[in-house]
Amino acid sequence: MVKDGKYYAELVEKYCAPNYEPIPVVLSRAEGIYAYDIDGKKYMDMLSAYSALSHGHRHPEIIRALIEQCEKLTLTSRAFHNDKLGEFLKKMCELTGFERALPMNTGAEAVETALKAMRKWAYEVKGVRRESARIIAASNNFHGRTIGVISMSTKGPSRENFGPLLPCVDIVPFNDAAALEAAITEDTACFIVEPIQGEGGVIVPDDDYLPKVREICDKCNILLCIDEIQTGLGRTGKMFCFEHYGVRPDVLTIGKALGGGVYPVSLVCAGAEILSLMKPGTHGSTFGGNPVAAAVGMASIDILIKEKLVERCADSGAYLMKKLAEMKLKNVTEIRGKGLLIGVEFAKPVAHEAAISLMEAGILAKDARPTTIRFAPPLIITREQIDEALVIIEKVFSSLPD
Ligand SMILES: *Cc1c(COP(=O)(O)O)cnc(C)c1O
Repeated sequence: MVKDGKYYAELVEKYCAPNYEPIPVVLSRAEGIYAYDIDGKKYMDMLSAYSALSHGHRHPEIIRALIEQCEKLTLTSRAFHNDKLGEFLKKMCELTGFERALPMNTGAEAVETALKAMRKWAYEVKGVRRESARIIAASNNFHGRTIGVISMSTKGPSRENFGPLLPCVDIVPFNDAAALEAAITEDTACFIVEPIQGEGGVIVPDDDYLPKVREICDKCNILLCIDEIQTGLGRTGKMFCFEHYGVRPDVLTIGKALGGGVYPVSLVCAGAEILSLMKPGTHGSTFGGNPVAAAVGMASIDILIKEKLVERCADSGAYLMKKLAEMKLKNVTEIRGKGLLIGVEFAKPVAHEAAISLMEAGILAKDARPTTIRFAPPLIITREQIDEALVIIEKVFSSLPD
């Protein structure tokens, strides 16, 4: 039997729940911004595993940190201390400017943890009536896939037939501060929002949205949680996207790129008045804060800083957006985003077709919505590599059907 691409894809189709619809390419090797399929064909990765590969594939220092830690100590559970977690959390608190951080594994877990902590704060600090704390979220959000998190979703397939979901969730339109203010009651614990909606199609709010949201949250005594799982760690040209808007959240969730493209690492960061409420027995995770995660997380941050990836992203993102706009691509109505989180909007629902044609031409990207394709290459991408991508993008887009 020939073990070709079709063979591997069909195994997944046969044995996996069909919960994804992958672009038909089977990768077996990657390095930096390039990935190779099982036939050795080379692709430029312009999705970066939804921003989890910001450092590129298999960054040598991240791989080294992973292997070195694996050779010493991999898991203790939080029943015991290990010699890595403390230094990782110190680094993260210094980086984010928060007093405390709570380690988890996936992004959805970080969001769940943030919701739990903010509800606890609502009862124990704000004084909300028992069992009535409300959470406000923005329409078109993406915060993950657990039951608690999808209770905030406004997308049909994310919610349908998974209920009953969490009660006491209120949805307000994204980019509408007045609607947020109108939705707040004395039972409201928090508002959770992405600074740019990534999965929702790279939706960038007005410049004054988050500042207004911050003001409203302060005035009404509710917590502001900014979910930077996709936008954080340099992706938008600042270490955190909220820096573009001159605001700070009360609670911050980080994940994806924190794991350096090799390991799931997520964190909730907040002030002591919130995270100190999470006493022994209230919350935990067997793998959360394990020494491998801590070693990888520290390496990821060290590399971001040492290789100036945040500054490079600001620069190359501006360049890529400008060039894309100048090319006046056929059927494209808008180019939007910040840094290297860029959405290209088509006049018609051709984004999936575009993603497949791009793959065939050697670029890996994915449709975020039927009319939107997202370009989010690793932050290590160079000008020359961007130019290389632009040639392909122009060619592929000009051959899309009218
Ligand atoms: C990807 C993402 C999540 C969920 O992260 P997982 O690791 O897939 O659970 C949460 N919030 C945002 C903004 C994301 O982009």
